[in-house]
Amino acid sequence: MTLSCQGIGINTSREVAIGEAYLLNHGVAEISMREISEDQIQGEIERFQDAVKTTTNHLREVRDQIPGDTALDISEFIDTHLLMLEDVAISQAAIGLIRENRYSAEWALQVRRDELVRVFDEMDDPYLRTRKDDVDHVVGQIQFVLAGGQPTNHDNLKGRVIVARDLTPAETIMMKNQGVAAFVTEFGGPLSHTAILARSLGIPAVVGIHQATTLFRQGETLVVDGAQGVVLADPTERILYHYRERITARQKREADLRRQVDLPTMTMDGFHIYLHANIELPEDIEITLENRADGVGLFRTEFLYMNRPDPPSEEEQLEVYLAAVKGLKGIPITIRTLDLGVDKTTGSMSDSGCMPAVNPALGLRAIRLCLKEPELFLPQLRAILRASAEGPVRLMIPMLSGLQELQQVLNLIERTKSELSRQHLQYDHLIPIGGMIEIPAAAIAAKAFAKQLDFLSIGTNDLIQYTLAVDRMDEEVNFLFEPLHPAVLYLIQNTINAADQAGIPVSMCGEMAGDPRYTRLLIGMGLREMSMHPSALLETREVIRHCHLTDLQVRTETYFRQLESHTDSNALFEELFNPH
Ligand code: PEP
Ligand code: MG
Repeated sequence: MTLSCQGIGINTSREVAIGEAYLLNHGVAEISMREISEDQIQGEIERFQDAVKTTTNHLREVRDQIPGDTALDISEFIDTHLLMLEDVAISQAAIGLIRENRYSAEWALQVRRDELVRVFDEMDDPYLRTRKDDVDHVVGQIQFVLAGGQPTNHDNLKGRVIVARDLTPAETIMMKNQGVAAFVTEFGGPLSHTAILARSLGIPAVVGIHQATTLFRQGETLVVDGAQGVVLADPTERILYHYRERITARQKREADLRRQVDLPTMTMDGFHIYLHANIELPEDIEITLENRADGVGLFRTEFLYMNRPDPPSEEEQLEVYLAAVKGLKGIPITIRTLDLGVDKTTGSMSDSGCMPAVNPALGLRAIRLCLKEPELFLPQLRAILRASAEGPVRLMIPMLSGLQELQQVLNLIERTKSELSRQHLQYDHLIPIGGMIEIPAAAIAAKAFAKQLDFLSIGTNDLIQYTLAVDRMDEEVNFLFEPLHPAVLYLIQNTINAADQAGIPVSMCGEMAGDPRYTRLLIGMGLREMSMHPSALLETREVIRHCHLTDLQVRTETYFRQLESHTDSNALFEELFNPH
């Protein structure tokens, strides 16, 4: 009988895969406290050091095997683990415990692991909380070696669906190189390493299926539906037929879309819609150009600041921004200023010396942090402004909530410009300054923001989270995260209207913009510019080319009129905007 399990789907471009289950068992038994005698201390330390060395050598081998065209962030996962292996926080501290407490190597490592994980668990920041996976992965690998295991490559993984409690980045990369079909893990949310890597590597994955390694049997056929977050074990012929059809249709569609890449992004009645890309790393530029984006609507700069003790200098940032400007060959780039919370800044709580925020999503985040810490903000402003001398750059401020705050930012930008002029450093004197509308207050008061800014961009990821009071990272309440909630739609509409009235462009750069199910509604609401993950550009362009803008305006009016009285607004939405 077919078993169906629900997890969190990682919606990669390939979405569905079928393959035999390959259960990964790391085989590390429960570690319990064991003391050693005085004369065993030196031998135990050496045993520990040998295990660290074996793990390090294995990781280096993995890193050397990463193909040259793999995104930089992927090798960075491995580099982070290599650094952790050398870090005093793990290795030296464990050696200290062996020497001073006469703990066995396994137990010393376990005690140290528990201490570090406790620190991460206390952090409110969801991204940093996921970094505790790094500690677990590194400790797990050393413990595996200590238990007599050899970190080896698994053979014959081609076409298999890997089922594991969790996967280390090294395993994920090795498996991608061996052509695995999909990943299924017990742990992990949308921000987990497996999720991030699966997305970057384009491998279908479902994470967060509790007890997956006991539910599924070695060698049985699994269907992994990364779009729906479902894994089906032992599927019937009918189910298999359905999914095989989906895979074939997907492959055909990808080929079709690729053939249309050079067609204009225009509705059937001749309205041009501008499609921009969201990028996080310079590596994303290639696909942005390949998929013919009109520009970059959101360059997230947080990655420049993560996993390092000090923020990047002005010159270091300038180099990255200039490389992006040049790489984009004349299409505009919107660089968003830093959107971090205080505890994300240095990647380490102890370094920042700050208490964890009571509620980081509502705390000292993004522009609030930048205004409080000008020494963090000014080098970035200078670097962005200086990059604007070399090509079309727009500067965008995240998380604006009030006009006073906006005024403060605008003053700082003016001061920075004057300073650059005094120093005879070049910048675009007319650089467009825009703001993200992602706090409900800003969406309601969008008119006032539109008067002072050159463009607006709607950040639906945060706008939805704040409007509906649903933490976007919290698995328990994810089902309440509803882009079509009438309150969200009213705020989006209000922002579009405000920008139109002020005569400035408005874009949307949250995930909603890159989901083709919403494209028609957004166009009907008056949106003419959208920014999305570059892999979503082709499909969105195709939707746009098949729609009639004036017809969508009528449908949108109908939708808004009936929204509150209709008992099933989702059915109404599908009927009006995605009829089959
Ligand atoms: C958003 O909030 O919609 C957005 C694009 O910004 P981020 O996801 O980086 O918070
Ligand atoms: Mg945001």
